[in-house]
Amino acid sequence: MQNPDIARLFDEVADLLEIQDANPFRVRAYRNAARTIRDFPEPIADLVRAGTKDLTDIAGIGDDLAEKITDIVTTGELPLRKQLASKLPAGLLDLLRISGLGPKRVKLLYKKLKVKSGDDLAEKITDIVTTGELPLRKQLASKLPAGLLDLLRISGLGPKRVKLLYKKLKVKSAADLAKALEAGKIQKLKGFGPKMEEKIRVGLGQVHVGERRLLLNEAETQATAIVAYLEAGGGLRQIEVAGSYRRRRETVGDLDIVVTSERESSAKVMDRFVAYGDVAEIISKGETRATVKLRGGLQVDLRAVEPDAYGAALLYFTGSKAHNIELRKIAQEKSYKLNEYGLFKGTRRAAGKTEQEIYAKLGLEWIPPELREARGEVALAREHRLPNLVDVADIRGDLQMHTSATDGKGTIEDMAHAARALGYQYIAITDHSKRVTMALGLDTKRLREQWRAIDELNAHSRGGGFTILKSVELDILESGKLDLPDDVLAEADYVVATIHYGINQTEKELTRRLVGAAEHEWVDAIGHPTGRLVGKREPYAFDFEALCRACTATGCLLELNGHPERMDLPDTLAAAAKQHGVRFVLSTDSHQPGNLPFMKYAVYLARRAGLEAGDILNTRSLEEFRAALKRAARGGKGRQ
Ligand SMILES: [Zn+2]
Repeated sequence: MQNPDIARLFDEVADLLEIQDANPFRVRAYRNAARTIRDFPEPIADLVRAGTKDLTDIAGIGDDLAEKITDIVTTGELPLRKQLASKLPAGLLDLLRISGLGPKRVKLLYKKLKVKSGDDLAEKITDIVTTGELPLRKQLASKLPAGLLDLLRISGLGPKRVKLLYKKLKVKSAADLAKALEAGKIQKLKGFGPKMEEKIRVGLGQVHVGERRLLLNEAETQATAIVAYLEAGGGLRQIEVAGSYRRRRETVGDLDIVVTSERESSAKVMDRFVAYGDVAEIISKGETRATVKLRGGLQVDLRAVEPDAYGAALLYFTGSKAHNIELRKIAQEKSYKLNEYGLFKGTRRAAGKTEQEIYAKLGLEWIPPELREARGEVALAREHRLPNLVDVADIRGDLQMHTSATDGKGTIEDMAHAARALGYQYIAITDHSKRVTMALGLDTKRLREQWRAIDELNAHSRGGGFTILKSVELDILESGKLDLPDDVLAEADYVVATIHYGINQTEKELTRRLVGAAEHEWVDAIGHPTGRLVGKREPYAFDFEALCRACTATGCLLELNGHPERMDLPDTLAAAAKQHGVRFVLSTDSHQPGNLPFMKYAVYLARRAGLEAGDILNTRSLEEFRAALKRAARGGKGRQ
């Protein structure tokens, strides 16, 4: 049992409690427990088994939770979860896995529409599509996920076509519609055709009930554990986890592991693989390939390939599909054939051992996996113009983190201590400002007290080569005003402004708030700029270009927030911002010292966006960082 598996059970308890209208504090307690466990740096199951560490020593875990964790590790189940789940229809938990459908929305669907499963939901959507209206639509509209409303708008699917689908194909639900689509019946209907088929496919895809994709850090926990397990068995020469995991996408659907083994030992590797402790189901097993499903639902594929084909297999299984298609096209132009076994001229393998030699034969520089998305990287590789991507080792400071003064779980010293251990030169303590009452946000008085404490800590360690920056995560209020007065902001070393409330305002209002903050003289950066929560909440609707223009004009920075639940800016937007000439800061939004290593996720995001160290201000020394801030030009008092 890995930490994400344990965390998932607690998350489900929180979901189930929320659907059943339990006390919100109780819901929050389980939610926080899930986060603490998910983000905990060591495998908790090992701690329980070793019995050497008292779980209650972990911040946020009391006696009750410690007992529940021990139950989970020893029995694989949480009795409370079972008990809660038994009171609700079984399909409801599946609904929770639909991206965008959180417990609040599931509760509404269940209570108001009697939606109990994915099929029910599909049917209701069909009702909406058929009649064009649903009595509760208005009431629900603001609370429904974007995907549902998109379906409503599957353009061209008006009442007439729905009637046809029903009469000719007996399509009564979205599920039926999907089946008809699969069977190729739709495009044969009069008035439909391939274009309409594609539209429906896209629309249906958005409500597809499937396994939840893992957050990148959850996938990493699983991948690291399984690779360590396979390596411990011996007989391996090379091992790599390919797929979207290797491309460091913010979510991962399954794991594709590619290995080469010592002579004759691939069957042994397969045996060991399917005997892995977290395997719930062996889907298939052969001499060179096996597929299993882990307890948390994650599918893992293992392929053993011959050393001469390792690079080709890695390339093939890393993807993306679109990238591979571009490579195959180039191969064809050079009269090669590229597949998972190698690059062939006729029957002769011209390359395959490493990715580098395959790219080289195609006349390309080796392309880092994070860039393999068919977004222009192949052309850059041909012209030897690939960016020199930023690396974790380039980062000298972390610019968003919270302490126990608000919703974090460590003191300023705890955070500083952990940051020094990572080799940083500086950190910014960015507790919430007062508007975020839920997190006990700081008012002027408490913030100034915190800054005095920081001054003292810095004075004590002067010459130690480490500095704590006086900062704040400043709320951009619904009105567009900032949550703290200018004279206070002027005293800070660095201010990151963010939106937490009023996220459903109009595009115009949201744009005005963000642009206004970016233009404010004491705002140095906009934090988690789109507000997206991976798999849970889409970016807010605002004019991103307008924000970029404001940032370039004023020198305001955009944050790449590497918290695995945020990963904000999304990679494509970060790439677009770079085109505008925007500069960036990377941060972890840590809520405990153990979160600071999340910096790698911010770096992955930056790499996927094609960013170099020069694009990112916290790759610079403290002096250079300070000098490059907008406030430096204004003579901010925070400078020493
Ligand atoms: Zn925030």
